[in-house]
Order: sequence, then C-alpha cells, then structure tokens
Amino acid sequence: MATRLPKVCLFCQSTSNITAEHVLPESWRKVFGASLFDRTDSGWLINSDGKRTEVEKTVKAKPFGRKVREVCGSCNNGWMSRLEEAAGPTIHDMARGTERVIARQELAHVGRWASKTAIIIEALSKMRKGSSQDQRDALRASITPPRLDVWAFPYTNGDTISYHPTCEGPILEDGTLRTYWITSIELFQVHILVLHFTEGLEVTFRNVDLISPLGEPIQNARYGLAWPPVSSSMGTPPMVRHRYVQQYLEASVMR
Ligand SMILES: [Zn+2]
Repeated sequence: MATRLPKVCLFCQSTSNITAEHVLPESWRKVFGASLFDRTDSGWLINSDGKRTEVEKTVKAKPFGRKVREVCGSCNNGWMSRLEEAAGPTIHDMARGTERVIARQELAHVGRWASKTAIIIEALSKMRKGSSQDQRDALRASITPPRLDVWAFPYTNGDTISYHPTCEGPILEDGTLRTYWITSIELFQVHILVLHFTEGLEVTFRNVDLISPLGEPIQNARYGLAWPPVSSSMGTPPMVRHRYVQQYLEASVMR
C-alpha cells in the first residue's frame, strides 16, 4: 500500500525533504533501554457531522522506534536536534532521580523539549488538534510558546517509559471548537505533564486554579529547581495524576 506523504513541514511549512521525526530521540535508547510500553490515547474525535466520539485506545509500542512523518530535514536535523541535545542531560538526570539543582535555563530547554514532543504526539494521533502555528513558530525560534505549560513531578518508583495524550474541549454554539490537550510523558522517575490549548481558552485557563493541583509550571521557575522537589506526591503514579488533572479540568472548563 502506498503511503501518502504530507507535503508540508508541521513547523516551517517547507515542502521539500519531509523526514520521519522520532517521538522520543533514538539516541536516548542508550539511557532507557528498549522494552515495549503501552501508549494510551484518550480524548475526542470529531466526525463529519461535528459529533464528538470518545476515543480510548491502547497500543503496544517501542518507545524509541515511533516516528512521525511530518517534519522536514532541516527542522529535524537542525533546531529539533539541538533542542534534544540541550534538554537531554537534564531530563536523563531527572529520570534517574539524581539529586541536583536544575538551572532556570535548563528548565527552559526541558520545557521546550516537552512542548515540542507534545506537538509531535498530537501529530501522531487522530484526535482533534490543539496546537497552532504561533506555538510551533515559537519553538522553532527557541522561545517559550504561548498557551503551552509544562510541569515536572518526581516519581520515585518509576521504571517505565510511556506517553499518554488526552484531548478535550468545548464546542461553542456556533460550532467553533476549543481544544485543550493534556500530555503525560513518563520517563522512569520523572513525570512531565504538558498542557496546551487553542486560542479562545486563555481567559478560561487564567481563571482555573491550576496552582492548587499542579503548582507552578517549570518555565515559571525564577531561580531554578532543586530536584527531586520535596513533595508529598512522590509516590503518585503518573497516570493517577493525569486522570486527576483531566477530571479537574473537565469540571472547570467543560461546564
Ligand atoms: Zn521544517
């Protein structure tokens, strides 16, 4: 069966040399190994009549083998590759539970890497899109994207790798879609949680008290972060936190 290739790079709109981008960098296999893991997609598809259909699907996947053919060679081998190199050592330390102080600049790299990865996971999924071009332009320009927040939590018992996207969002009376995504990336002892959302939800999210369940996004850390942070939730499995955030946002946003 012939595969139809997308003609445009997701990030820079180049139409030449579309390549396959790894969801998780293949070179990280050396740090994490290569065992299979479960990826669970949950969220909503919109059919041609505008009807919402719930998705709940788990697949077995190789964490470092999964690729998305939506990115051009110069993005893939340029800024994305540099971002993975910049963020990698910090993420690997977090994943191992290494005690250290993570500088503000390092947190910014981790935040942009997690944001980029959430957008790649979104591209892999068949669910509604929550990212927009201004967010992808910001990532390409090495600045923190709008409407994209990242948190990191220690998970002392973590020994697996997975990612789990959930997509939600109201449909307005005129049919306009508002979409938000919660993406969990679990790498051994770190749970990285990314929230991104479409324009029009800014005021809603400003009024939702995310500090209570999640604390400050790592991009907001002024003086860096002592890792692992002292936290009463170090034993909380990432999926439990993910479901909690999902329910909290459903109750707050989907009213
Ligand atoms: Zn590109």
